[in-house]
Amino acid sequence: MKLYLTCARCGQQMNLEVNAATRNNLRYHFGGSQLYATCGNCSYRDMYDVAQVRATSSSAGTPGGAAAGGLIGLVGGPLGMIIGGLIGGAIGNANDAEDQRRADVFNNSH
Ligand SMILES: [Zn+2]
Repeated sequence: MKLYLTCARCGQQMNLEVNAATRNNLRYHFGGSQLYATCGNCSYRDMYDVAQVRATSSSAGTPGGAAAGGLIGLVGGPLGMIIGGLIGGAIGNANDAEDQRRADVFNNSH
C-alpha cells in the first residue's frame, strides 16, 4: 500500500514516504491534520489535510511473487517452473488482495 496526495496545481501524485494504517495514524505521525508537501513534478509546495491523503494498492506483490515462483521453478526443472510460476502468481495475487484491503481500510478511515 502506498499513500499519496494529488498536487493542487498540476494533479501529479505525490507519494508519502509514511506508513499509516488509517488517517488517525497519519495525524498522529504528523502531529495534526495538516502537512506540507512539495510536488516532485512542478515543485509547488502547499499545505494539505490528512483527509486529502489517499491510499492505493502498490502492485509490487505480483512481480515479486512471480519472481519467487520462477526461482522455485529453476530448482525443480521445467515442470517445477510451471508449478512454481503458478504458486508465485498465487502468492502475488494474495498479497495484492491484502494490500487492496489495507488501502480500502485507509480510504474509509476518517
Ligand atoms: Zn505539481
